[in-house]
Amino acid sequence: MLVNLKEILKIAQARKCAIGSFNTPNLASMKAVISAAEEQNMPVIIMHAQIHEEMGVCKMDEIAPVMLLLADKASVPVCVHLDHGTDMSYVKKALDLGFTSVMFDGSELEKEMNYANTSIIVSLAKKFGASVEAEIGSMGAREGGGAGGESVYTDPDDAKDFAEKTGIDALACAFGTAHGIYLKEPKLDFPRLKEIGEKVSVPLVMHGGSGVNPADYMKSIELGIRKINCYTYMAKAGGAAVAELKKDMLYHDIELEAMRAMKEDAARSIGFFKMPQSPEYAQYTGIDKGEMETIVKKVIEIINK
Ligand SMILES: [Zn+2]
Repeated sequence: MLVNLKEILKIAQARKCAIGSFNTPNLASMKAVISAAEEQNMPVIIMHAQIHEEMGVCKMDEIAPVMLLLADKASVPVCVHLDHGTDMSYVKKALDLGFTSVMFDGSELEKEMNYANTSIIVSLAKKFGASVEAEIGSMGAREGGGAGGESVYTDPDDAKDFAEKTGIDALACAFGTAHGIYLKEPKLDFPRLKEIGEKVSVPLVMHGGSGVNPADYMKSIELGIRKINCYTYMAKAGGAAVAELKKDMLYHDIELEAMRAMKEDAARSIGFFKMPQSPEYAQYTGIDKGEMETIVKKVIEIINK
């Protein structure tokens, strides 16, 4: 069932959980993510990142019809989202293609330009019934990972002003996560996230979500994160599984193996984002009761601080 981001985030708000949001630049990853979500009866967001077109991974006009078809066929609500659209024309093209949600990323622009362009995208998206995510502060390098771009943490007062003036549906905020592979354990700025959560009325988005530890997911969700973007570690799981295959494989065996491994990784993430009150939490995340109690205790301590 194809839905927009606003509708999916309403479900997340009501359940006080986060929804997994995955870049799916090919059929195998799309099927892996949607089947993981269906198994757990959770809504999910599949995303095309502008940078994947720039890297030659996939073209938006080719992948969009497939994303929309699979979203429509799914038994759970699925949002088809453009991730980090940095060009206004590219975002417009996504809306024309039928994306139900777009992220306009003006985080590298001057503040006034980011406000102005985001507001234009918001009024444009309204005509399509689509939702808009935007960013203030900067997560640094985009989905390609690697070097480039400096991280600037989101200022809570700026975040409130930006969300109110632009009328966005979700706000991506920078508080310590990063895109790509983490070279060292990320240290998240929870007091900052708490303040952003208190000041901003729209749901918050965590980028660079894969590779964050379970306790940090829980704290972030408690403090208002409702959409968690993942890609790198799922893609890495697919790659690692394929590397284990014997020689003389047929190509479809490679795709099937990658799909199996990516589904397992996506299921684990979706399991974490449901929060421990869900009966399937342990089943999908592999965390035992003792471990879970320790995590819950740690999270409660931080939140009450
Ligand atoms: Zn991102």
